[in-house]
Amino acid sequence: MASQLIREWVGIQQFPLATRSRLLELLGLLKQQDVSSLTILVMGKSGVGKSSTVNSIVGERAVAVSAFQAEGLRPVLVSRSSSGFTLNVIDTPGLIEGGYVNDQTLEIIKRFLLDKRIDILVYVDRLDAYRVDNMDKQVIKAITDSFGKDIWRKSLLVLTHAQLSPPDGLEYDAFCSRRCEALLKVVHSGAKLKKQDAWGFDIPVVLVENSGRCNKNQSDEKILPNGTAWIPNLVKTITEVALNGSNSIMVDRKLIEGPNPNRQWKEFIPLIFAFQYFFIIKPIQGAIRSDISKEAKPAWELRDGGRSSRRW
Ligand code: GDP
Ligand code: MG
Repeated sequence: MASQLIREWVGIQQFPLATRSRLLELLGLLKQQDVSSLTILVMGKSGVGKSSTVNSIVGERAVAVSAFQAEGLRPVLVSRSSSGFTLNVIDTPGLIEGGYVNDQTLEIIKRFLLDKRIDILVYVDRLDAYRVDNMDKQVIKAITDSFGKDIWRKSLLVLTHAQLSPPDGLEYDAFCSRRCEALLKVVHSGAKLKKQDAWGFDIPVVLVENSGRCNKNQSDEKILPNGTAWIPNLVKTITEVALNGSNSIMVDRKLIEGPNPNRQWKEFIPLIFAFQYFFIIKPIQGAIRSDISKEAKPAWELRDGGRSSRRW
């Protein structure tokens, strides 16, 4: 990160006092644990609110947000520093194009991340979507194939557009938990997280409302319909994931140019075949040959003088 331009985190001063003091408290907690910088990778489909969420976290309009235009092709790194703590947030272009994962975009993102460390993956989707589909699964799978399934140990889900009235008279919290459950299920199946992989904890989900029309509490903090001040809640969850004891993901050449990190054992298949050939098949063939040579030939074969093998 040294070559990047690290600016003073002025946006933190723009937050209401209650939010600011909570954020400084959380940054203090990180520093106490010797964490003086965090790199957050933000990924998801197009138009779900990735860039808006980046801007909400840093408290300024650092990256472009657009309702209609396609996103830029390159990831953008936003670095901000405050009282000895550096926050790096990497905004990325949406991964889906024309119904499929765009491999070229994925490749650009991987190259951009080369030699960087991912401390947190923020996977963004919308709360106000009523179905999960194959596209969601494809994006999750593409992320897993690129960075390995362990990236999900350092991840959280962010659901935007959280200021909504649920359909069918459902309670807000009940609607949110149904949507979270459905998405977590897709993450688990898209990333092939199995019980035996010791997923002893679930991926946290944070609700976000990036709109300027978001309701506020008496302290002027943006709140969700259930009263939660979501910016401190988001940063608190990021802090918890950062300190959850799992390792950050180092993006090196081996990770991005090597085989799928989840299937590295497949490299050993030729070796296994070679082992079988030299240590099982060859000795068996040798034993058969020596058996044949030692075999006492029947009298008819000796009488025949090999004529039976003559070709006509
Ligand atoms: P990206 O393509 O994932 O980076 O999405 P953007 O951040 O560019 O957002 C796409 C559109 O959704 C923009 O018009 C944003 O203003 C809008 N948007 C993003 N997040 C929210 C949110 O939480 N609530 C609402 N109401 N609109 C949002
Ligand atoms: Mg964007």
